[in-house]
Amino acid sequence: MNQLSDRLATAPVIGVLALQGDFNCHLESLKKVGATGREVRSLESLHNLDALILPGGESTTMALLLREFNMWTGLKKFTKTKPVWGTCAGLILLSSQVEDGTGAPDKTFEPLGVLDVTVSRNAYGRQINSFEDKVEIIDGAEKLSAPVSFIRAPKITRVGSKVEVLAKTDDTPTLVRQGNLLGSAFHTELHEDTTFIRYFLNHVSKTLSADKGESITNTNSRSREVA
Ligand code: GLN
Repeated sequence: MNQLSDRLATAPVIGVLALQGDFNCHLESLKKVGATGREVRSLESLHNLDALILPGGESTTMALLLREFNMWTGLKKFTKTKPVWGTCAGLILLSSQVEDGTGAPDKTFEPLGVLDVTVSRNAYGRQINSFEDKVEIIDGAEKLSAPVSFIRAPKITRVGSKVEVLAKTDDTPTLVRQGNLLGSAFHTELHEDTTFIRYFLNHVSKTLSADKGESITNTNSRSREVA
């Protein structure tokens, strides 16, 4: 067996970016369903992961720390191939464009630019306007319902042509997917319910197995570029 099939034969290792925000809750929910979670605080720790969760928190602080710890470019590279789920601040980090409250581009914040959506930060209001809801996720033939929370959540104001909308709240997309990337405006890790984390693990295993053949080609073509 080569290294890749070795890894696919075992449980995937899910990293949770642990520079700031509610990473502990994500680690707890991974534990609850028997998945393997790892705190990620360095570029090196990204290397042995199969997938990654970018938690909620403060996107500005996370972006600053990612640069401070020299993780920005490595993380961007990771998001190009591996399954990643950005929650709330994590979604803002993944997005391609960020708006300020007036709908104008927020020039003070540069996102990773890998998920083709525009988000408006804090558009659901302040901390005091936080609310709980239930979302219906419609993914092909699969229909799920999960309890979620919106906490100073970003609003998705535009979705690119390659982006699938998997859930909406009041007609606004709140869960989107673009290939290996999932982004949610809401939090699910604060709830006892494990529907969403199991849905994410399913996304991870589908992405990793779909990638199986391609990854080998990609790895080779990367080596060619470097050579
Ligand atoms: N409002 C925060 C931001 O702009 C996100 C809030 C959250 O992650 N719950 O980064």
